[in-house]
Amino acid sequence: MQSFNPPIRTLMGPGPSDIHPRVLSAMARPTIGHLDPQFVGMMDEIKEMLKYAFQTENALTMPISAPGSAGMEACFVNLVEPGDKVIVCINGVFGMRMQENIERFGGEAIVVTDEWGTAVTPSKVEAACKAHPDAKIVAFVHAETSTGALSDAKTICKIAQDNDCLTIVDAVTSLGGVELKVDEWGIDAIYSGTQKCLSCVPGLSPISFNEKALDKVRNRSTKVPSWFLDLNLVMGYWGKGAKRAYHHTAPVNSLYALHESLVMLQEEGLEAAHARHAAAHEQLKAGLTEMGMEFVVAADQRLPQLNSVIIPDGVDDAAIRGTLLNDYNLEIGAGLGALAGKVWRIGLMGDSARKEKVLFCLAALKAVLGK
Ligand SMILES: *Cc1c(COP(=O)(O)O)cnc(C)c1O
Repeated sequence: MQSFNPPIRTLMGPGPSDIHPRVLSAMARPTIGHLDPQFVGMMDEIKEMLKYAFQTENALTMPISAPGSAGMEACFVNLVEPGDKVIVCINGVFGMRMQENIERFGGEAIVVTDEWGTAVTPSKVEAACKAHPDAKIVAFVHAETSTGALSDAKTICKIAQDNDCLTIVDAVTSLGGVELKVDEWGIDAIYSGTQKCLSCVPGLSPISFNEKALDKVRNRSTKVPSWFLDLNLVMGYWGKGAKRAYHHTAPVNSLYALHESLVMLQEEGLEAAHARHAAAHEQLKAGLTEMGMEFVVAADQRLPQLNSVIIPDGVDDAAIRGTLLNDYNLEIGAGLGALAGKVWRIGLMGDSARKEKVLFCLAALKAVLGK
């Protein structure tokens, strides 16, 4: 065995995205103890900067020490009690995973279905709320990475609120890439990931819960059936001021990386970051359209940072992706689930959402497709 030296790739798939050198070098700084006062100070700064990213004042805003999927599980395992009715919107892979979570924790999933490649239809959510007045939660994916559809989180949350339901929102791909206003939109519980539009390393999941959601966690009649993700315990570790109790050993160096990526987000400004993702999308769209390629999602529901395009007839999906990877060091994503083999998913997330990278992606695609 020898040291592992990964090739230098350009990551334009559904995540992880390219990581800025500043974030990578932050990660290589010396490890200190996870209860070291200096480290605890840095944890507080991460929480403050995450509040900015999520646009929230929620005291419980912090990263779970595990990937986006664990943030998803943290929301459902804390908020769903056996017998709870949960309205779940499914328009792609991640909505299906939400349903799986609900059912594993003893909830009853009321499924609202939309076609893959379209946004969640708010009127369907409203109809489900009316048909199930005893439902306690509405759960949906803001940015469906499996298809590239962006749903109207603001409207869906208003419907949930009007019907006395809490909301659980998947913002793994939306955070940092498109507008997201946790407090203004009345989102009760939200989770995200670090490896998509935050351009940080994979393996952390920022979450935020408001007081209404925390009340439900505190007043459960049954214990949270996960020890690691029980927020009552995690809060003792990430809570402010009070003496921190050992819960688990935080991934110290990954948190240095998150801190640096959040400093960079603050420097750039949220709105400028959104504008950069939108501009990269426009540039990609112009180039792909010129090549005669078509998008899966209608223009008004399209997510700038995840572009599903239809694979042209007669083109070998895996062979083209293989050539891009081997000859151009460029990764683009394959289709998932119902779209496997039919589409490519081109990610413009975080540090991958840059003019020069879009230009490179277009040139490489043109070359391998012989256009
Ligand atoms: C990537 C993703 C997840 C899962 O995140 P991991 O870090 O891969 O666990 C969940 N939801 C959506 C919408 C995603 O794009």
